[in-house]
Amino acid sequence: MLKQVTENKEPILIGNELIDAHCHLDMFPDPEIIKKDSKFGGLSTIITAGGSRASSLAAIRIADGEMVFAVIGIDPQSAATDEDFIDDITGFVKANKKIIGIGEIGLDYKVGPEKALQKRVFERQIELAKSLDMPIVVHSRGAIADVIEIVKRHAVSKAMFHFFEGDETVAKELAGLGYLISIPPTESSRRKRVINALNISNISVETDSPVVGKSPLDVIRTVEWISELKGLPFNETSARITENVKKLFSL
Ligand SMILES: [Zn+2]
Repeated sequence: MLKQVTENKEPILIGNELIDAHCHLDMFPDPEIIKKDSKFGGLSTIITAGGSRASSLAAIRIADGEMVFAVIGIDPQSAATDEDFIDDITGFVKANKKIIGIGEIGLDYKVGPEKALQKRVFERQIELAKSLDMPIVVHSRGAIADVIEIVKRHAVSKAMFHFFEGDETVAKELAGLGYLISIPPTESSRRKRVINALNISNISVETDSPVVGKSPLDVIRTVEWISELKGLPFNETSARITENVKKLFSL
């Protein structure tokens, strides 16, 4: 057993530091296998996100504080049922260094409950993140104008816009506020324009697996795509994106 653990600390890296800035390891049947595969495939860091009480607790459990880190919070879909978890977040953060941010939180006007409730839960967690000096991981679906109004009003300084769905104008506005725009493993002409419009220092990559990507290793193709669009070598692209994410989350 010990030998195996030691061996696992010697991953077969492909010479790059790759990061999956947003996925849900708790939704895989066996998160440990995914962690191992990701490590051997060249990933150095994975951020696994909660969104409800149960998934936040699972994210804390799965995070190891070395390769896998957790963000915890209540997403719009859980806003009506799990709001009271917000009162517990500070305690969990103080007790676990492997929790590095508050998320995913935000607004979802496609599947979430009534807007006033969503906004209250989002704003409470923004203030909590600020009091903890932590970044937020933002979920926005069909709600970007309200999300921008809220993050501006609360003077949020540290945020990553997970699975960014807006256009290049919105992307540039958010980048101007110092936020990271996270690119998922779904290529589209709109997303291409977003990548082209952004400086690489405002880009992160994520798989949102298993919801969207099959596994955290899907970031490899996204980094390839960005490196093609930016005309940068793969290694440099991956290193700079990883640096962006590590800086935001103080890793
Ligand atoms: Zn997600």
